[in-house]
Amino acid sequence: MDDLRILLCSPEIAPYAKTGGLADMAAALPEALKELGCDIRLFMPLYHCARDKAVPLKPIAQQLPLLIGNRTYHCNLWETVSAAGIPVYLLEKEEFFDRDHLYGIHGKDYEDNAERYIAFCQAVFPLCSHLSWFPNILHLHDWQAALVSAYWFHNWRYDPAFSRTKTVFTIHNLAYQGIFPATHFALTHLPLHAFAMEGLEFWGNCNFLKAGVIYSDALTTVSPRYSQEIQRPEFGSGLDGLIKDRRDKLVGILNGADYKIWNPETDPLIPARYDARNLSGKAVCKKRLLAELGFPKTNVNYPLLGMITRLVPQKGLDLFREVLDQLLSLNVSVVVLGTGDPPIEQWLKAKAEQVPGKLQVHLKFDERLAHLIEAGADLFLMPSRFEPCGLNQMYSLRYGTIPVVHATGGLDDSIVDVMLNPQTGTGFKFYQYTAFDFLYTTRSALELFQAKEKWLKLQQRAMAEDFSWGRSARSYLDLYRKLLDQRPPE
Ligand code: ADP
Repeated sequence: MDDLRILLCSPEIAPYAKTGGLADMAAALPEALKELGCDIRLFMPLYHCARDKAVPLKPIAQQLPLLIGNRTYHCNLWETVSAAGIPVYLLEKEEFFDRDHLYGIHGKDYEDNAERYIAFCQAVFPLCSHLSWFPNILHLHDWQAALVSAYWFHNWRYDPAFSRTKTVFTIHNLAYQGIFPATHFALTHLPLHAFAMEGLEFWGNCNFLKAGVIYSDALTTVSPRYSQEIQRPEFGSGLDGLIKDRRDKLVGILNGADYKIWNPETDPLIPARYDARNLSGKAVCKKRLLAELGFPKTNVNYPLLGMITRLVPQKGLDLFREVLDQLLSLNVSVVVLGTGDPPIEQWLKAKAEQVPGKLQVHLKFDERLAHLIEAGADLFLMPSRFEPCGLNQMYSLRYGTIPVVHATGGLDDSIVDVMLNPQTGTGFKFYQYTAFDFLYTTRSALELFQAKEKWLKLQQRAMAEDFSWGRSARSYLDLYRKLLDQRPPE
C-alpha cells in the first residue's frame, strides 16, 4: 500500500525545534516511512527558532480563522520541504509561537499553552482541506497534538473526506499530560458531553492527553517496557487504570537512532572520526573535549563520565546528587550538559565551582557539545527514574561510550547488562532505584574500564548494536495497515 497518506502532527520536529527525544523521533520516523514508500507529511507550529531553518516558506492559507473560547484567531499556514524531501506544514500565529522557548520559561509553562495547542490541533483539518490532501492516518504525538483525535471523533469523522481516517496517538512521556483548569474546556469548543470520565475530564480538570487515549484508534509508546510500566500506578501518572483498560489498542515500539546524524564514522561535529576497528579518533575527541572544558591535562588518563539531559527529576538527578561526592573522590572527570529546573541548575553550578578540575557543568542546549561528549566520554550516565525510550543510550552505544543505566523503560529494552552477560553485554544496568545501586554499578564500570582488553571488546559490541529506524518504521507501518484493514463496527 505505497499510497498510504500519513500526517504526523508533533509540537517539535528536528531540526526546526527541539527540546528532547520527541523532535528526533518526529524527524527520523518520517524519513524511514518515506523510504518504505509512504506519502508522509509533517505539521508543527512555526516557532521563533524554526523561522531561519524552515526556508523557503510557501503560503498554503492566510488568515485562517480559528475559534478558541470566545475569540477568533487568524492564523497562517505555510509549507517548507525538509532536507529529506518531506513536506512540512507550519502553523503561524506570532502571538502564540514567536517566543524564545517552546513550552515555557525558567521551569514554568506558558500560561496560554491550552490556547496555543488548541489552535494547533484545530488547524489540522482546514490544513488538509486547503491542500485537498486527506490522510489515511493522523499520527499524533504527545499531549500538544492529542486534541486532534477529539476533534476528529466529535466533528470531522462525519465529513466524507475524513470518514475513513484513523488516528494513532503516541505517548512519549506520560508525565506531561497538558492538564488545565476545567474552565479551559470551553476554549476547545468540543461538545459539553466530552467533559466526562469517557472524555477530557480528569479529577475535575481538563486533561488534553486523555483525549488522545480515549479517542484514538491506536495508542503507542516508545518502548515495549514502558508500555507495560504505564499500566501500573508507579508510572501511570494517574492514568494507569485508563491505559490498562485500553491495553488492547496499545503497543510499544522502540524508537530508533538516526545514524545519519549520530555516527562517529561520519559526524562532522567531532574533531576526529572513528569506527569499531580503530578507536584512535575517539582518543582525539576525548583530548579535545577535556581541553575545551578546561580540565587539567592529566585527566586524560582518567575515565571521563558524561551526561546530557534535561535537568528534571525524571532523569535521576536525585541519585546523581547523592553519589556525586563519592564519584568525585575517585580519579574521574565528569561533564554534565543540560538545562532545566532552576534549583537543579543552581546546585550543579555551585558544585562545579567547588571542584572545577573534576566536574564541569554546561547549562545550555548545545548540539555540537552534545556530539563531542558522546564521542569524547568513556561512560555515559542515565540513572533515570523512568525513561519512556531514551535516545542518548543508543547514541552512546554507537560512539563506544558505555552507558550506565537504570533498568527502566527503553533503557532496559536497549541495553544488555554486561555484568549478567559478560560475552554479549553492551552496558551496565542497576535494578533498584537507589543511590547505593547506582554507585555500585558505576564503580563496577570504572573497574572494568581498567581492564583495557575487556573494555575494548565491550566497546566494539556496543558499537555493533543496530537500532536504525527501518525496523521501528516497519512496525508503525504494520500498525497503520492493521487499522485501515479494520472494518468500522456494524
Ligand atoms: P528526553 O526526550 O526525555 O529529553 P531523550 O534521551 O529521549 O530524552 O532525548 C534527549 C535528546 O535531547 C537527545 O538527542 C539529547 O542529545 C538531546 N539533549 C538534551 N539536552 C541537551 C542539551 N542541553 N544540549 C544538546 N542536546 C540535548
